[in-house]
Amino acid sequence: MTGNATRIQAIQNITQRQPVSVSKPDSLANLWASDVFTLSKMKESLPKDVFKSVKKTIETGEALDVSIADIVALAMKDWALSKGALYYAHVFYPLTNATAEKHDGFISVQSDGSVISEFGGKVLVQGEPDGSSFPNGGIRSTFEARGYTAWDVTSPAYIMTTDNGSTLCIPTVFVSWTGEALDKKTPLLRANAAMNKAAQRVLSLLGNTNIAPVNSSCGAEQEYFLVDAGFVNTRPDLLLSGRTLLGAASAKGQQFDDHYFGAIPERVQVFMQDVEEQLYRLGIPAKTRHNEVAPGQFEIAPFHEAANVATDHQQLIMTVLKNTAKKHGLVCLLHEKPFKGINGSGKHVNWSVGNSTQGNLLDPGHTPHSNTQFLLFCGAVIRGVHKYGPLLRAVIASASNDHRLGANEAPPAIMSVYLGSQIDNVFEQISQGKVSSSLNAGIMDLGISTLPTFNKDAGDRNRTSPFAFTGNRFEFRAVGSGQSVAGPLVAMNTLLADSLNWVADTLEAKIAKGTDLDAAILETLKEIIDNHGAVVFGGNGYSAEWHKIAVEERGLANLKTAADALPVLKEKYIEELFDKLGVLSPVELASRFEIYAEQYLLAIEVEAKLIVSMVKTGIYPATVKYLSELSSTLTSLKSNGIELDSKRLSLISTGLNSLTEAVDQLNAAIAKHDFDTIEEHLQFSAKTIRPLMDEVRVYADALETEVSDELWPFPTYQEMLFIK
Ligand code: ADP
Ligand code: MG
Repeated sequence: MTGNATRIQAIQNITQRQPVSVSKPDSLANLWASDVFTLSKMKESLPKDVFKSVKKTIETGEALDVSIADIVALAMKDWALSKGALYYAHVFYPLTNATAEKHDGFISVQSDGSVISEFGGKVLVQGEPDGSSFPNGGIRSTFEARGYTAWDVTSPAYIMTTDNGSTLCIPTVFVSWTGEALDKKTPLLRANAAMNKAAQRVLSLLGNTNIAPVNSSCGAEQEYFLVDAGFVNTRPDLLLSGRTLLGAASAKGQQFDDHYFGAIPERVQVFMQDVEEQLYRLGIPAKTRHNEVAPGQFEIAPFHEAANVATDHQQLIMTVLKNTAKKHGLVCLLHEKPFKGINGSGKHVNWSVGNSTQGNLLDPGHTPHSNTQFLLFCGAVIRGVHKYGPLLRAVIASASNDHRLGANEAPPAIMSVYLGSQIDNVFEQISQGKVSSSLNAGIMDLGISTLPTFNKDAGDRNRTSPFAFTGNRFEFRAVGSGQSVAGPLVAMNTLLADSLNWVADTLEAKIAKGTDLDAAILETLKEIIDNHGAVVFGGNGYSAEWHKIAVEERGLANLKTAADALPVLKEKYIEELFDKLGVLSPVELASRFEIYAEQYLLAIEVEAKLIVSMVKTGIYPATVKYLSELSSTLTSLKSNGIELDSKRLSLISTGLNSLTEAVDQLNAAIAKHDFDTIEEHLQFSAKTIRPLMDEVRVYADALETEVSDELWPFPTYQEMLFIK
């Protein structure tokens, strides 16, 4: 075995590892939502009228009757105590991608020194974490740091159990004391409400009289990498930035495509089973698991749920993945691009809208051409993505997602919509002014008599599209693996709300002029496809040809980096969109730009500093040592009459000098801090710091293939990706 001492140690630990024992899984019936204060548990423990009131709030989004909060709190506390919880926490979602919690004990000390457990309605409904250290983008100064959390009744409370005990967790919104949203949940609830209101208008115009509240749904497919913790602990880059900033490619990568859907390694399977059991307890419907394209990469996808609940659950999935990996001696990397030259990780956000009376409003049925309800909603999405494509790009913009987008493994940074041949054809007919038929998908006959024939899907999949219609929903594929799905869902619901309002306004105006409903609908749809059809694209989104056509002929934006995309949040038309629909005030929107821009700058600064220190303290010393060993060996051999070619010596020393020079340049760039605007700073990070980091990496990775493996300080790609 080769490698330096720490690497050898890490490998030895893996080979000698005893598997973590997980018990045989309990039955789904026993596990399911056992740690959630579900509606049925409320029904058992609450007086009838109280239960009815809570249920109404959950189902209709009506305000909670605070007079019942004490009773609900008591029932919740009793249930939590019966599950062994001693603490409760208001859980909230600050403007990072993280989840935050403030824990408080149920304990209350009495005047005689005894203690009781106490949890009143007031603390259930409202909390006051010291929010001063969460990013607020200038909404508050520290002296007015007061922030409130308020219970989101529509997302159920649950018990989170770790080795340190159990805590009752209450999902909340987080707002400043002046009422500005400091979190990701508040705008999501507002965007959903705006979409509901607009959808109601359209559904009524179509003649529906019984219309239940319209909600959005979300099913998010989460990709992730697993790497042994021993390797991560000896790589400062992975440990602190979540990705490898250096590292030569392994001789074997993903070129054989043999990992995708391959058998899941045993250690990983045990890990997955452990994760799923916890998720089931938390009432999270984990459904699929498989290997992904890259070695060491996996995916977990839950069944879809109401967007707000799905968003909270998605945060929990990320937390459970990370915590459970630790228990199994692994690290779960949620970074979008942990390894160069190997596919990165995304999070496909499947999204639809619907209600209990009209069903899934994006379900085309068998004859989409005659399904006006579907066509209007689908048309509204097309219009929205066309008008607000740059916003969709902005809400997925981050330093880490930049490595993936447009890199021939993930959708390009150009936002376009894929509809599939059937729906494409219907809109083509609409554009001709007359719609009369739907293409038939047909039957798949495999020509094998023992296998049944089956119905084909009406549209194929197009993996290269960032925003694809997939049968009864849209799939936003450009979302990064480490991101909260809240931002994308806010954007999608908001742009849909805007479009549905436009549809309703347009239909109303036409009807007022005496046009009959059917004709008005057809005209409206034609307007949509004529004015916004440029965003519809069914070809290869990775091709250079598309990038040219998209920008030059169709006028679509190609915002290549987050530095280009984030300033979209400052555009007037975006500010008006959010303001008009009551999703984000101009101040709230401005704070988001500040915060996301700062996160981008910080992420790159941390990475740049890390790469400098790894080179200076790890790679430089190792290379110098090797050079000195090599040169003394050459000299001593020469004195014995053996002359070895000294080409390697000069090659390595030249490489090392180039590396040193590149590091010095990078260091100088990091030190620059005098920027006139934040936009200028963003561009400097994207166009100067990042390329300098890439240059450092080229020299460092070249040395990795020359310097003796025994001296190389960092675990290699081969070790991290293939040893499990
Ligand atoms: P794929 O064909 O992409 O593998 P699946 O059928 O497994 O897709 O679904 C992928 C994700 O899409 C799952 O999380 C699923 O729950 C979600 N999904 C399915 N229908 C809807 C819907 N109507 N709204 C939102 N998400 C949905
Ligand atoms: Mg998918």
